[in-house]
This record gives sequence, C-alpha cells and structure tokens, in this order.
Amino acid sequence: EEKGEKFTFQTEVNKLMNIIINSLYSKKEIFLRELISNASDALDKIRFLGLTNPSLLGEGEQSKLDVHIKIDKENNVLHITDKGVGMTKDELIKNLGTIAQSGTKEFIQKVSESSDSSNLIGQFGVGFYSLFLVADSVVVTSKSNDDDQYIWTSDSQSQFTIAKDPKGNTLGRGTRISLHIKEDSKEFLEQQTIRELVKKYSQFINFPIFLYTSEEIEVPVEEKEPETKPETTNDEETTTTEEDEDAAEEKEPATEKKTVYKWEELNDAKPLWMKSQSEISKEEYTEFFRSLSKNQETPITYTHFRTETDPIIRSILYIPENPPSNMFDLDAVSSGLKLFVRRVFITDNLKDLVPNWLRFLIGVIDSDDLPLNVSREILQQSKILDSIKKAVVSKFIQMVKSLAEDEDKTNFHNFFKKFGSNVKLGIIEDSKNKNRLIKYLLFPSNKNEFTSFEDYVSRMKEGQDQIYFISGKSKESVEASPLIEQAIKKGYEVLYFVDAIDEYLIPQLDKYDDKYKFTNLARDGVKFDETAEEEESRKQTAEEFKPLTDFLKKTLSDKVEKVTISKVLADSPSILVSNAWGFTGNMERIMKAQAH
Ligand code: ADP
Ligand code: MG
Repeated sequence: EEKGEKFTFQTEVNKLMNIIINSLYSKKEIFLRELISNASDALDKIRFLGLTNPSLLGEGEQSKLDVHIKIDKENNVLHITDKGVGMTKDELIKNLGTIAQSGTKEFIQKVSESSDSSNLIGQFGVGFYSLFLVADSVVVTSKSNDDDQYIWTSDSQSQFTIAKDPKGNTLGRGTRISLHIKEDSKEFLEQQTIRELVKKYSQFINFPIFLYTSEEIEVPVEEKEPETKPETTNDEETTTTEEDEDAAEEKEPATEKKTVYKWEELNDAKPLWMKSQSEISKEEYTEFFRSLSKNQETPITYTHFRTETDPIIRSILYIPENPPSNMFDLDAVSSGLKLFVRRVFITDNLKDLVPNWLRFLIGVIDSDDLPLNVSREILQQSKILDSIKKAVVSKFIQMVKSLAEDEDKTNFHNFFKKFGSNVKLGIIEDSKNKNRLIKYLLFPSNKNEFTSFEDYVSRMKEGQDQIYFISGKSKESVEASPLIEQAIKKGYEVLYFVDAIDEYLIPQLDKYDDKYKFTNLARDGVKFDETAEEEESRKQTAEEFKPLTDFLKKTLSDKVEKVTISKVLADSPSILVSNAWGFTGNMERIMKAQAH
C-alpha cells in the first residue's frame, strides 16, 4: 500500500463542512443529488471538449457517457462512477480541497438566515462535501486525459491524501466516488432507496444513470437459465452477492429461485425539451424548473416552443417565482439559461443570450443551427445569437400577454410585483419592443391597486383626453400630495408612478394608443377641462391676488421661476411644482441619491 501525500483542507472547506453537517442532518439524502450532478457536469465537460477534439473521447466512447452506481453491501460501500472529464492530480487537490468560489462568506451568511439550506448548498457549489453526511470515509479515483489515475482519500473533515493508483489506469477516463457509508445511514445501501432518490432528484440528468441491481425471480426448472450476470465495469466494484443457493424446490410446477443481475437504467435521459408538450405533465415542467433553478419554488409561468425557421431552436423558458438575488449585478457570471447545441451542453455563462432586463429567465435553449465546434468567444459574436435573443424576447412577451389575458389576474399581478421593474427597463432599453411592452405596464392609482393604461382609458371620463399621473417616492407620499387634489375632486383617476425607475420611464411615454397624452400632475401647466365660468373665476382670482403673487415672486426671486394661481389645488393653500420641462422633485431626489 502506498501511503500517499497528506494535505489539509482549506479552512473555508472546514467551515463549510461543519455547516453542511449541522444544518442538513435531516436531509442527508441530498448527497446523491450532489454527486450525480457533479458526474453530469464532468460528462458535459468532456462532451464539450470532444466537439473540437473528438479524439479526447476515445474510440466509440461517445455513447458511453454515463453514470454507474453500484452498491457493495458487504463492505458498506456505495460507488458512483462517471465517464466524465476526470481530474488530474493537481485538480484533485484544488477542486476537492479548496473552495474556488468567492461566495463562501455569502453562503455562510445565507445559511444562518435560511430555514432550508439544502437549496443553498446546490446553488453555492459546495455539493461534494455533502457526502460526509452519509459517509465516514471516501475514496475518489480519477483519471483525466491529462494525467495518470490518482486516488484521493479522506476519512476526516480536516485531512486528505493523494496517491498515484498502483493499479494503473482502470477507469479509462472518469471518476469514481466510493463512499464508506456510516452506521446510521445504511438505507443508502438499499437499491430501492437509490432508485427513489434518483427519480426524486436526478430525473432530468441528460446522461443515463445505471444501478447495478439484483432481483430474485422464479424460473421453471426445465428451462435452461440464461447467463444473466453482466460484466461489471471493473473488478474493484464487483459485488459479492451470490446466486441464491437455498432456492426452495417446489413440487408442481418445478421452479427455482434465481438471482438476476443487471444494470438498470434509472432515468429517462431524453431531454425534456425534445419531447412534445403533450407528453409532459405540468408537474414535470415544475420539477424541471426546480432542477434548473436549484430551488424548490414554483414558476409563475413557462413556455415550451420550437421555432420552425432560422435559427431552429427548441426551448423551455420559465418566469421564476422570485427574482434571483443577483438580477441587477451585471457582472454576475452564471445565468439561469443553459445553451445547448444539438443536445450538447455548451454554456450557462453567455451574457448575450438575453438582454439584461431578462436576466431572471430560467430555462434551456437548444439550437441546431449553431456550429458545434465553436468556442464561447466565437459564439458571443454569432449572428445566430442575435436571432435567438430576438426569439427569447418574443416568447417572453407572449408569456406576459397570456398572463395579462388570464381571467384570473392573480398571476399577472404577482408577476408584475416581482418583475415590473424589468419590464420598465425593457421599455427604456429596447426601443424595438417598447410598444409591445407598454401594454403590460401596471400602476397603482387612486382607484385601483393595479391599473393598466387600457383599463385606465376604459374608465376615462367623458371627454377626457389625457392620462393623469403623479410621480413620487411612495404611494403614501403621492396620496398625501396636494397636487392630485383637484384632479381627484374632478373625478379623474390618477396613476401613481412610485417605482424608482418610473422617472426614467416617463420620457419614453409619448402618447398612449396615439391618442392620449400623459400628463404629470407634478408639473406646471396642467390644464383640466375648465368651464368658461371656472376660467373666468380663475382669471378674476389671479387679478385679485396679483399683489400677493408679485410680492412672493420678488421675495423668492432666486428660488422660484414664477408664482401663479394654481389649477391643481383644491384645499391646500400653496404648492411647489416643477416647470413643464425641468426635473421633477422626485427625479431630483433620485439623482441626489445616485450622486452619493
Ligand atoms: P461545484 O459542482 O458547484 O463546482 P462541488 O463541491 O460539487 O462544487 O464540486 C467541486 C469541484 O470538484 C467541481 O467543480 C469539479 O471541478 C470537481 N468534481 C467534483 N466531482 C467531480 C467528478 N465526478 N468529475 C470531475 N470533477 C469533479
Ligand atoms: Mg457540484
């Protein structure tokens, strides 16, 4: 036996392991999801590399990109073997001994706040260490194309060792994780448990997952029993289960018990987006969303489509239940969209796949038209990418449309509460789709919690030709503003533009439906439909109070531009307003806040 080199885990890894062990004790089973997801990532990587350099895959290996799980009950060991990219010695040390992501602190912080840390574990990429929930020691055997086969072992949470495998290269290429299962976790040595867990957590893995199973069956004695024990992938994982010797001989008809061994495929490796919609249940769509988003939420809505013309894409897109925490962090690397080319996973790190304002979308996009052998850098500049982006925006708008047209508006309102700012950003940034998006804006008003422009127009007073709104920092503050008094007294509905982004939206709004002018009550020059008498009376008042307005103008000369008799006030004595083209008070507030 070679001793191997000894290493200690990075302190962060230690911290992390403690957190995992302490916070996930009741959810130990997620270790399998994490290990299978790593196997799947490693398979994606080699398949991707194989695009540009098929020789990396080896002869006829393309079809063997899979995961094998084997239970060794006698020795309390569970083996998970993949034909993925494998790890070199250096990679073993780095990947399984340190934490590359800088988000560890954030993770530790979040775990202490969250009640369900199992979701966070997957999102923060600390999955591998979850194996210590069920194992007291682990052996990782790995063979990369770039190195000899190495063995990484650890039986404590502080140290690991590395040694060259004295048996040589037995894996061909890939990684085997062999877990020595703890006394209290023996259920993970039951084939039924593994079957169920794969079904529960790993049904959307796009590589076949096999379990080495044995089954007792009755066979007639007359018949010559077939040789059923298949070749195992290699000797190390050979189980010792024997054919049942005490098979009871029945009288009539003569049968005997045989143990049949086979590699049972546990998942359906056909990608969900390749199936037709009628084959897929709503629950499956939800589960697929959960596997992509790595959380247990339920999407607000989704769309599954295929474009017939260039570029041919197949896609499933989801509007998630909640915005991701890094939605407006434009430097954040990973996005919720995975790009495939002809079923081969290419990247989930392509900034230009969707416009910034759609960064919250979760889903998969599979294109037949992108060249397979392209680097991410080339992809980024591809014209096809622009067409894909267009298709995604279009499908997004269709999703919003159907939410808006739903009889029950709950979903639409919920969507808008969470992603309304994104729609507004879309209007500001995407002039081509501006008019398609404006229809789906919702605002609170003095009459309703959510009002679209269309609703507003349908409730307009006879003869009204303007859409009245007021901008401000909150619903409460604009409701209390004297600026809306007169409008409301006259029976007009007033929309409240109280989102921070609304001030940037306002310049984008010219006329709704080419007819209705938008009028900000926070500005000077607002004219309601005055009757002749009202106009006369206002002129009289202006004349009567001229000495006062002149006096105020003189006294406040360096602070105000003019002093007039108000057309918007009803009960309040005076008000400060912006002129028709300057910044509103609210815009000044936002700009001041940004300057700091
Ligand atoms: P993550 O998967 O989020 O990167 P993990 O803790 O699950 O984090 O895994 C750490 C790293 O270890 C992976 O990023 C990968 O580089 C490496 N790794 C883990 N399992 C495998 C495997 N089966 N094959 C190749 N590399 C692996
Ligand atoms: Mg992982």
